[in-house]
Amino acid sequence: MKKLIFATHNSHKLREIQELLSSFYQVIGLHELGFDEDIPETADTLEGNAAIKAEYVYDKLGIDCFSDDTGLEIEALQGAPGVYSARFAGENCTFADNVNKVLHLLQGIANRKACFRSVICLIMDDKRYFFEGKVEGKIIEMQRGTDGFGYDPVFLPDDYTETFAEMPLEEKNRISHRGIATQKLIAFLHEIR
Ligand code: IMP
Repeated sequence: MKKLIFATHNSHKLREIQELLSSFYQVIGLHELGFDEDIPETADTLEGNAAIKAEYVYDKLGIDCFSDDTGLEIEALQGAPGVYSARFAGENCTFADNVNKVLHLLQGIANRKACFRSVICLIMDDKRYFFEGKVEGKIIEMQRGTDGFGYDPVFLPDDYTETFAEMPLEEKNRISHRGIATQKLIAFLHEIR
């Protein structure tokens, strides 16, 4: 089976994407390659950071690879945390710190609309390709569910009764930002095969 490097240290993201691509590619994360360097995410857009991560790994290892950058965009917070979703509550913060900060900022606010947006950057034969996925929903007031990661326990996708942390991974992957971006990546990989 063909191998594809996923430029991530995030084991949750790796598991989600491995599940989606498992029939076509062996997806390998950075940890498995012994590549434990922290990759700087210095751009102010998801596209920019996705490109930085993929290019960093491509330059060091010289193998085709892809990366993903994701942000939670909350309408009442003018799109925050957005590209700063990972470190919203400060350097070295935990997922729980970030979720608590969001809940705190939204206390008493009626507009709970939010979306997750993911951008995948694929570098193949020296060319860059981008794939985007987005899912609309709202931030609920209390955390629900123990699966998933990050902001999943407070994100309720539109037209669903379960948060991302309550639904099985297969279902999250079917409707999620990263799932949609990955479907586009898969379609592209099929096209060029
Ligand atoms: P990154 O910069 O793309 O690694 O992701 C930024 C942050 O967004 C992560 O640290 C998580 O807190 C959050 N995040 C990314 N993807 C998801 C997801 O699928 N569900 C919930 N939170 C996510």
